[in-house]
Amino acid sequence: MALDAAGGGPRLRSPKIVIIGAGMTGIASHIRLREAGIPVENITILEKADRVGGTWRDNTYPGVACDVPSHHYAFSFEPYAWSHQCAEGAEIQGYMEMVSAKYGVTDNVRFGEAVTACRYDGAGRWLVETDQGGRFEADFVLSATGVLHHPNVPKIDGLECFAGAMWHSAEWRNDVDLEGKRIGVIGNGSTAHQFIPHLINAGHETTVFMRTPQWVFPNPRLAYSETMKRRWREKPERMRFWKGVGKWFMEQFFVKATIGRPFQNWVLNRIVRNHLRLAVKDRALRAKLTPDYGVGCKRMILDSTFYPAIQKPNAHLETTAIERIEPGGVRLTDGRLIALDVLILATGFQNFSFMRPMDLVGADGLSIDEAWAEGRYDCYNSVHLPGFPNFFLMLGPTTPVGNNSVIAMTETQLGYIEQIIDLWRRGEADAVDVRPEAMDAYRAFVKKGFDGTVWVSGCQSWYLDGDGMPAIWPYDWPDFVKLMAAPKREELALTTHRPAETAQAATSDA
Ligand code: NAP
Repeated sequence: MALDAAGGGPRLRSPKIVIIGAGMTGIASHIRLREAGIPVENITILEKADRVGGTWRDNTYPGVACDVPSHHYAFSFEPYAWSHQCAEGAEIQGYMEMVSAKYGVTDNVRFGEAVTACRYDGAGRWLVETDQGGRFEADFVLSATGVLHHPNVPKIDGLECFAGAMWHSAEWRNDVDLEGKRIGVIGNGSTAHQFIPHLINAGHETTVFMRTPQWVFPNPRLAYSETMKRRWREKPERMRFWKGVGKWFMEQFFVKATIGRPFQNWVLNRIVRNHLRLAVKDRALRAKLTPDYGVGCKRMILDSTFYPAIQKPNAHLETTAIERIEPGGVRLTDGRLIALDVLILATGFQNFSFMRPMDLVGADGLSIDEAWAEGRYDCYNSVHLPGFPNFFLMLGPTTPVGNNSVIAMTETQLGYIEQIIDLWRRGEADAVDVRPEAMDAYRAFVKKGFDGTVWVSGCQSWYLDGDGMPAIWPYDWPDFVKLMAAPKREELALTTHRPAETAQAATSDA
């Protein structure tokens, strides 16, 4: 290892890094890498849109909000005087833009550049290409493209024939005047639960096409007072208590309840079942809204607005299956046509798209489509794709931990990734991959965690891969933190391609 010019400590190599995406994860990654001592000129952050923010920039539907307590859904290094116990989307977008500007991320983002290809050269380096003709060489790539990003357009006969306005919830049409329109909504997940009440409460005739009912945890979304917010701004340390409360609620209650800890699970069951019973008086409607699968099998919805709204006279809940879409509306399997002017698809996302459609090719010409063939989405320790050395898939399969804050997950992953990059910086490896036996062991370890859990009890959810195995973390939050506390060198394949002194000079923009 080389010593620096003053003869002091070891001189660390400085990698070139490309971050793909400037949403929450991309912003956090840029900040963390710079704090780790990587010069800003070595970090390229590519964003296909014209603003930072990711999901909070894209989702503008009425009522968009986060269902994780706001102080917990915030970067650990930047507390914020939130307006509500669960913040709304525009406020979170403002926060993301503020943090990104304050920490010097925004000025370094290359906006309007979508990554089209990302290819490994076989010797520790990646070539990243964009649709603007950009070509960047990198020692590491952090794919921060988000999980639920590409809209899932349902395969329903005749969908393209619909004569009225139609859009997906993630591509909300704020330009369409809904006054006097008959609106249909397909889907009733977390997203639909947030915007449907806004449509109904605004007086629009709204029909909800529900395939499967959902369990719903009450979420009053309390507003914080002006005094509280002023006191938080005066002294940000005062927010620690509130962050602690949100963290405790998610980690000690929600995560434990969904992994099946008896007490928390019992409480969760009592709360959601009583919520439905107390909120929906009509027995027939309540029966329609009662799921036949275990609480927590699908990702829990936290909301207190849908049940009151769906009982209003201008709200209609359709549980008969959809036969096809016709120009004038939705034809049901019992022959009825529900006439509509507007059709909104709240049908979720292609949950395993991640970085795609980019052309991602790892070692030995292995493409991501080949690596993830047959619906098995291997991802070791939630960030490594075996066969794709020095490439990190942020929030990759096996990341989601209950309904916990994805910001906490991202920060935990970054602590791990920083240690892998340190191996490179110290010249101990030029390429870091996963040993096949380690991937096998990790897959088996995660699979074992699902035994007897609610997730494999038979419901359909976006958690499931092609084998019907959830691509989430089946254990407790502290277990995830422990897993990611330090890389296990014996499970990694470390390769050296270059003498330590030449590595820095060899990396530059192509
Ligand atoms: P989702 O939970 O995947 O729900 C999709 C809905 O569309 C389901 O009701 C599904 O029915 C229905 N659907 C899909 N294809 C259909 C078809 N062909 N015919 C009829 N119905 C169909 O999607 P989402 O509501 O957008 O939420 C996705 C995730 O985004 C959430 O779980 C959450 O992680 C995240 N999210 C978070 C927040 C937050 O506050 N943090 C807010 C919104 C979303 P089935 O149930 O029968 O499949």
